[in-house]
Amino acid sequence: AQNERESLFITLNYAKDHFVSNLWESEEGRNIGLTYFKERSFSEETIKTFELGYALDQWQGLMDASAKKGYNETYLARAGLKIVKEDKAYDRFRGRVTFPIHNVSGKVIAFGARTLKSNEKGPKYLNSPETELYTKSKILYGIFQAKNEIRNQANCYLVEGYTDVISLYQGGIKNVVASSGTSLTEDQIKLIKRYTENVTVLFDGDKAGIKASMRGIDMMLSGGLNVKAVRFPEGEDPDSYSKQLGGTAFKAYLDENSLDFISFKTELYITGTNDPIKRAEAIREIVHSISLIPDPIKRTVYVQQCSNKLGIEEGTLISELNKLLIKES
Ligand code: ATP
Ligand code: MN
Ligand code: MN
Ligand code: MN
Repeated sequence: AQNERESLFITLNYAKDHFVSNLWESEEGRNIGLTYFKERSFSEETIKTFELGYALDQWQGLMDASAKKGYNETYLARAGLKIVKEDKAYDRFRGRVTFPIHNVSGKVIAFGARTLKSNEKGPKYLNSPETELYTKSKILYGIFQAKNEIRNQANCYLVEGYTDVISLYQGGIKNVVASSGTSLTEDQIKLIKRYTENVTVLFDGDKAGIKASMRGIDMMLSGGLNVKAVRFPEGEDPDSYSKQLGGTAFKAYLDENSLDFISFKTELYITGTNDPIKRAEAIREIVHSISLIPDPIKRTVYVQQCSNKLGIEEGTLISELNKLLIKES
């Protein structure tokens, strides 16, 4: 089985090299893929660091190239690179730019691939299916490139997408990983905890992003992480906003707008409202989040903070908190 895994790794690495050489060396790759990355202001160095590539707009570009090199076709399918339907077989990724997904030790285990067509009928991003090597819920995009810096900075920025990771990294914020648009899992939280206990959530400034960050914050609190979050203007994500502001101003924006989870939730729920019912709901929501924190000392500190921030007596919050803690235990 060890040999089998090794063969899959080799196949995925070959595919990555193939897509990279398409991007830099083929006319289609340069005209379409490389041009696209440059329009998004990715530098050549960045493109190389993340091993970005291009899958030609052909049904069997990778299959044919790998067959010529003597690669066994069954591994292409098992690596998620080949689709077999009835008696037809074709490449999964076609006419898309490719983002290899690396495991912690830097080996390619899967790909994300973005369409460049404005009239695309399929999804904007197409991802590898789950395979023997790739379990989506156990990996975070960018972890290999980010891990040392996460440790050094004692903080991990969590974003939604591939391009958010890449833009921040290029702008000098290298301690960044992406959940790739899915909701955070316990395994992903454990992965972050190998390197730090501090996370700053930078999700998109739209309804979906805010909802996902609320869910993610609660998951991370349960996992014992210290959580902050930053909100972006409606319609912006870390990639677009860092490009709009430029690297230095963007870093300053993060520093000035990082809120601990209580302030973040409070701002979202009750800024600009005096409605007592909304205030009550917000308080309940925040107390619920506090109840998820495993460490009783941290819970106490957050109760104090919540009390100050919202002008509610600590005793009231504590009795509410205790009800939740009893329910959960
Ligand atoms: P871009 O800036 O390239 O348009 P994005 O990264 O801002 O893309 P979002 O639409 O904000 O994309 O989605 C965030 C992340 O969710 C993506 O980077 C990708 O990992 C994942 N994702 C988005 N759309 C899909 C999809 N249709 N299928 C699977 N994953 C997706
Ligand atoms: Mn989004
Ligand atoms: Mn986005
Ligand atoms: Mn984007």
